[in-house]
Amino acid sequence: MADEDCIFCKIVAGEVPAEKVDEDEHTLAFMDINPWTRGHALVIPKQHARNLYEVSDESLARTMSAAKRLAVRMRDALGAEGINLLNSTEPAAWQTVFHFHVHVIPRYEDDPLRLPGQPMEPGERELAQIAAELGG
Ligand code: 5GP
Ligand code: ZN
Repeated sequence: MADEDCIFCKIVAGEVPAEKVDEDEHTLAFMDINPWTRGHALVIPKQHARNLYEVSDESLARTMSAAKRLAVRMRDALGAEGINLLNSTEPAAWQTVFHFHVHVIPRYEDDPLRLPGQPMEPGERELAQIAAELGG
């Protein structure tokens, strides 16, 4: 069901404008209003879900298929040399819009995007401990 305070539900309903680039029965893709690279777009399920924790497996699969479709088009139509897929779930992970979405970010050898984090060196014991906590 649509969430009446959700900006992406409003885009689905046509109440807020967006530059749409792909649509099927269950998903919509449109340009991110503040792109990180040329062509940066968002793919969403039309059915409202807060984020990865809450999206149905069916909506998730359909959204990822649509993201793949768009990625291929970015390669072929925009000359993208690579793609990053990004999802942010909850504010600790930078989520700002609380309707599940996947960023499809075309990459170019000379684009300005850089990794935001530094790789850690946790050591084997720590890795094993974490794996155990995760049920490995
Ligand atoms: P998040 O931080 O939740 O992963 O990403 C939300 C994204 O939605 C941001 O990249 C932001 O630029 C984009 N965004 C926020 N509001 C709008 C809007 O009204 N229209 C469009 N097209 N993009 C939006
Ligand atoms: Zn919504």
